[in-house]
Amino acid sequence: MIIDADCHVSARETGPEIGVEQLLRRMDKIGVERAICWPHVSYQRELAEDNRAICEGARAHPDRIIAFCGVNPRLGLATAQDELRRCIEVYGVRGVKLNGARDVYPIDDAELALPLVEAIHQAGLVLAVHCGPPDVEKTHPHRLANLSSQFPALRMLIVHMGGSGVPDVNRTVVSFARQHPNWLLVDSEADYRQVQLAISVLGAERVCYGSDSPFCDMRYEWGIRQVVYQDLTPAQRDAILGGNVARMLGLKQSDPPSGGSRTQSLECS
Ligand SMILES: [Zn+2]
Repeated sequence: MIIDADCHVSARETGPEIGVEQLLRRMDKIGVERAICWPHVSYQRELAEDNRAICEGARAHPDRIIAFCGVNPRLGLATAQDELRRCIEVYGVRGVKLNGARDVYPIDDAELALPLVEAIHQAGLVLAVHCGPPDVEKTHPHRLANLSSQFPALRMLIVHMGGSGVPDVNRTVVSFARQHPNWLLVDSEADYRQVQLAISVLGAERVCYGSDSPFCDMRYEWGIRQVVYQDLTPAQRDAILGGNVARMLGLKQSDPPSGGSRTQSLECS
């Protein structure tokens, strides 16, 4: 099972933003079966419509789209909490993406972030966190480790594993990941040498493939990985290209990946 662990979906197909159907066409061209999807971008934009588009896409394509929502406490903590509750209780998302670097808050901020992280933890969902530029300090691995120390059972996708151009941060991610076995590092936007370091230090079961589509061209990202991972064993490649995400999310080949039976009886409203 090939899974892309970093795809962005928008309710608006303007400029670089794409919806679920266009994402699926791109996946079909290279044979990617499933994609973890979260909103394209927020900054100061509301996220509810993007979350809804992801939910509807997952309901229409339960064997392809793995729904994660995005919330931004900078739009108001109460608003973010309301949206998070809706995404959990109504949409049945598998996880939640937070991006403190883009939305300008420390990812372990006691007032802005921890109430959201606690709700994600209580719901038993996966927390996906951006880790890297444009504001490395806001999502520095020591902040992610702080979250894991407070919520040891919380499963986390470390998206970009520090990003590119900041090898010290990449190495710190790898170092902290040794102490936090619930971290799965997403290789999107990361320098291949740092990704290979992560695999050699942590093992192939701790890294997964993500394209960061449509910010990056899915075909190119897929092609690059065929080179980066060419010296791994077939079992290691299978793990990175989908097996590790499937294990983290408890997916089976036949499982609907958007929330299982719980969401089948619920409406997207
Ligand atoms: Zn991304």
